Amino acid sequence: SSCVGSPLGASPVHAIGTSPLLASRLFQPSNLREGIVGRTGEITCKSQRLMLLGGLIHPSNPGCYYYLPAAVRAMEKLVRLIDQEMQGIGGQKLDMPSLCAAELWRRSERWDLMGSELFRLKDRHGAEYCLGPTHEEAVTELLASQGTLSYRQLPLLLYQVTRKFRDEPKPKFGLLRGREFYMKDMYSFDTSEEAAHLTYQAVCQAYTRLFARLGLHCVQVQADTGKIGGKLSHEFQLPAEIGEDRLLICGNCAFSANMETIEPGKTDCPQCHKGTLTESKGIEVGHTFYLGTKYSHIFNASHYNAQNKPVLAEMGCFGLGVTRILAAAIEVFSTTDAVRWPGLLAPYQVCVLPPKRGSKTEQLTSLAEELCHSLGKSMKGEVVLDDRTQLTIGKRLKDASRLGYPYVIVVGQSAAKEQPLFEVCCQQSGKTQFLSRDGLMDLL
Ligand code: ATP
Ligand code: MG
Ligand code: MG
Ligand code: MG
Repeated sequence: SSCVGSPLGASPVHAIGTSPLLASRLFQPSNLREGIVGRTGEITCKSQRLMLLGGLIHPSNPGCYYYLPAAVRAMEKLVRLIDQEMQGIGGQKLDMPSLCAAELWRRSERWDLMGSELFRLKDRHGAEYCLGPTHEEAVTELLASQGTLSYRQLPLLLYQVTRKFRDEPKPKFGLLRGREFYMKDMYSFDTSEEAAHLTYQAVCQAYTRLFARLGLHCVQVQADTGKIGGKLSHEFQLPAEIGEDRLLICGNCAFSANMETIEPGKTDCPQCHKGTLTESKGIEVGHTFYLGTKYSHIFNASHYNAQNKPVLAEMGCFGLGVTRILAAAIEVFSTTDAVRWPGLLAPYQVCVLPPKRGSKTEQLTSLAEELCHSLGKSMKGEVVLDDRTQLTIGKRLKDASRLGYPYVIVVGQSAAKEQPLFEVCCQQSGKTQFLSRDGLMDLL
């Protein structure tokens, strides 16, 4: 407990687990210095620039980044929300190897089909592998290895949140298009086509709920099944100027589709035949596929039906771009120089700023520390004290806007009064208000 004392006082040389978190101790290097950025080429979009500037990511090689502590906190929060939604519809989390045997991929004929997007390697015995870009083969083989299941065991929904590897021809836009990135991928096994459709809808609804909780206004569009294959597919697209997908949306009915699926040049709606299709751009943040028996047929993943006949499983697969969602949210929410997160994902909720070090600031400084301690009780790990009091409030406010705290509290002159008032900047509303201690506690 000797570490908990006064963080702004004589700082202990070796302070472990200091509470509150001190801005001076956070590993949050700004990476916009010349040279560092040069390593990964140009800055191609706002979220990439802001994430480098805010010490959220650090470039390593093309399409690969260090995810720095604040970004990892945001990602862990996102993964927790994803877990809630996936487990809410019966999903069970597992973790599959990234090193995938070429043999599996040859059986599905995707070893050749994937071309140069697949990262390939050999082990010491000359056996070939790829670094998993997706896991339909692996999960289907896992299921098939259990022998023929019973229909009573289905539907089965297995998912993971892991790194995926794709040798993208043009890795760019920071985390939006990496060569090594995090994806949530879920695979479903059902007894019949109808059951598989119900599962498909349940997952789409879970995705819709997730994006609503994040405040991201995604559109669900008809999509191409591409190299994954299957019969039915939708993408969840976040409208954004830098989006690489072209969407066609009907002005009259609910029809919306990725342009890839529509005969080029067509402008009348194929669904209502009344409305015209207008083009917009989107970032693909999620993708759902109804696969049918494409993979269960290859690997023989089957179950006994109620008549005790072996039947192939009807499958679906469902991807979410975890790291892409982080960057996409920053892309659409932020201003040119201030990071804004969906409230639920902000790495830290509150930053408290004591005044610049000077004469007669001691009292305000201890007030700020004390405030951090009380806030920390109900918001464990979410409160940062910007103890760099050699810097002006203005400079530290600017830094705070680079990390995107939903609330910044300035303990300034108005806090020196008998009834102290704290200056609270709420990022979401853009409003600054002066609140008493009780008012502050109510707000947070
Ligand atoms: P894109 O069209 O952008 O290349 P994709 O269609 O190849 O994506 P899927 O195979 O559908 O991607 O993968 C599921 C999800 O994984 C995507 O919807 C996307 O959110 C995410 N994702 C795919 N590729 C990348 C990447 N290179 N970097 C970050 N996220 C990605
Ligand atoms: Mg792709
Ligand atoms: Mg795509
Ligand atoms: Mg896709």
